[in-house]
Amino acid sequence: MKLKIESFSAHDFKGSKRLGAKNKVRQRQFFFCWLGTFLHGNTLGEILPRIAARGQQWQHFGRSCPTFRGRFKLALMAKHPSDCDICRRIAQIQSGAHPAFLAEFPTGYAVLGDNQFFRGYTLFLCKHPAPDLEDLPRDLRFEFLREMALVSEAVANVVKPHKMNVESLGNLAPHLHFHLFPRQLSESEPTKPVWLVMPQGDEAEKYAFDAARDGELVRHLRGALEGQNGEI
Ligand SMILES: [Zn+2]
Repeated sequence: MKLKIESFSAHDFKGSKRLGAKNKVRQRQFFFCWLGTFLHGNTLGEILPRIAARGQQWQHFGRSCPTFRGRFKLALMAKHPSDCDICRRIAQIQSGAHPAFLAEFPTGYAVLGDNQFFRGYTLFLCKHPAPDLEDLPRDLRFEFLREMALVSEAVANVVKPHKMNVESLGNLAPHLHFHLFPRQLSESEPTKPVWLVMPQGDEAEKYAFDAARDGELVRHLRGALEGQNGEI
């Protein structure tokens, strides 16, 4: 298997700088449009605390994101948390301690999901801690998506599902990752979204990853992903 680790920094987020000075007018229009929305329909007593809160955010964002577009977006959208579940998983993989690790790709790691109610459920974790796809430089974004599709294909080849459900949410953990769920017609409700079907509480415990029970599946998936890595 090819192993390649790449690191990326906040300075990779310079895409909007390439747009150049001609976009200054657009940036100004964008700002005043946002300001109008921000102020509309509010009393001064409501607006001032919000401005103070935004000021604190911008002070922080100014250090981490040098572009206007980056600062504006970060002020409104989810940001990567300092206490991140995905980063913890990646650290566990890198230390060799993750029992369900499947494969490393240039942009991410494939691991079997914590719960195997959907047999073969796999995660593809982005090495870069971006909250959303558009936070990645374009080349890296497309490469990440390409590798995610290769992982999904390998899972489908091994598990042979009726349908693959591929989702990226990140509402609880805003660090880019994909959920790859193989769905089977034998499920009680195969047409419903996974989140409405997945068991909860004690029932979910029955399907928690078990190295003894799921070891063979891990070996098969690793074998399939070795083949996919060869295509990179
Ligand atoms: Zn993270």
